[in-house]
Amino acid sequence: MAKINSNYLLLPNSYLFAEIAKKIKAYQKANPKADIIKMGIGDVTHPLTNSIVTAMEKAAKEMAESSTFRGYGPEQGYDFLVNAVINGEYKSRNIDIAPDEIFISDGSKCDIANIQEIFDINSTVAITDPVYPVYLDSNIMAGRSGRLNDKGYFEKIIYMSSTKENNFKPSFPAKHADLIYICSPNNPTGAALTKAELKSWVEYALENKSIILYDSAYSAYIQEEDVCGSIYEIPDAKKVAVEFKSFSKTAGFTGIRCAFTVVPKELYAFDDMGNKVALNKLWNRRQTTKFNGVSYITQRAAEAVYSEQGMKETKEVIKYYMNNAAIILCGLKQAGFEAYGGVNAPYIWWKIPDGIKSFDFLDILLEKYQIVGTPGSGFGPCGEGYFRLTAFNSQEKTKEAMQKIYKAASN
Ligand SMILES: *Cc1c(COP(=O)(O)O)cnc(C)c1O
Repeated sequence: MAKINSNYLLLPNSYLFAEIAKKIKAYQKANPKADIIKMGIGDVTHPLTNSIVTAMEKAAKEMAESSTFRGYGPEQGYDFLVNAVINGEYKSRNIDIAPDEIFISDGSKCDIANIQEIFDINSTVAITDPVYPVYLDSNIMAGRSGRLNDKGYFEKIIYMSSTKENNFKPSFPAKHADLIYICSPNNPTGAALTKAELKSWVEYALENKSIILYDSAYSAYIQEEDVCGSIYEIPDAKKVAVEFKSFSKTAGFTGIRCAFTVVPKELYAFDDMGNKVALNKLWNRRQTTKFNGVSYITQRAAEAVYSEQGMKETKEVIKYYMNNAAIILCGLKQAGFEAYGGVNAPYIWWKIPDGIKSFDFLDILLEKYQIVGTPGSGFGPCGEGYFRLTAFNSQEKTKEAMQKIYKAASN
């Protein structure tokens, strides 16, 4: 008799976003004329820029010629892209990263979900609350979570509360954690750690022999000077941190799929005997066994992101989104609400009126203003009382939404 991995039964039943989609569909069906403004989108909307598409076209033509056709590429990515990443992402920040420390992949979501495989099943895990659900769910599936208690917490996970009181920048875990997931700039709160704050995390990890799994998917959105674009800007971070970066939000690759993970060769964890083992070796072994690389066409597209023209185009698109973020932040404040984030990330964390559950606020917003956002509670218990709006809609729609909210608030 085949038995299931019963850890899967511990997972919260319906994925939040499916539930939201169901509600919107029902509303749209009941109100066919309603023009719903979608501000729950965690996806880019701007099409691929010209240099990216040109690179893809060229690569596609190469695939049509026997002299330039390519089959399987290296599991870790083609040299041309690895070098473009090193130059565009690290040399430009005065960071030394070797080619074999970079692993090109088809997305940060899979890398972030898979990385836990190379660690002991009894590793203790700390996550911020609220946060991108993948860190928690992948550890539930693996069997590290324990059961869900009636307060909405998994008993073996160490939660680090991100609240208004700590500016959505949690303090160190209350007890020792082997693995610490950090997302900065943060999805969903939009908060970003300053250089000094990130430095204190690196020092904490060094002292406590913890590994930081650093999700930097939104680094291209950073506007403030004292926020790091890479954790390796901090001295000794290579000894404690894996960094995940993606072309998804940086360059509109959510549908194309390309990302990379940096596993420095100085980064170690320990075997049962207490011997040091390089994580780079393990991750390479994992990837070469379970992954067969990203398509050549996609990697050429990613390479083009770092060309001079590509960087210019990408910056323009991000500027457009961040202008929307400013419109939302300012609009909510003018309407008398408290709102956070939106400065180094395309996310605005909206404090909703007291006494309303964030999931119920979804209905209120839909009924009253025909606006959709994402209930904060979907990202963790501390997200209750908040709502996430995103900057990925058009400027026109974003302005329209803010006018609706302002009007209703001033009535
Ligand atoms: C969008 C996002 C990613 C990127 O995922 P991909 O699989 O590369 O598209 C990673 N982390 C967070 C927090 C995100 O919001």
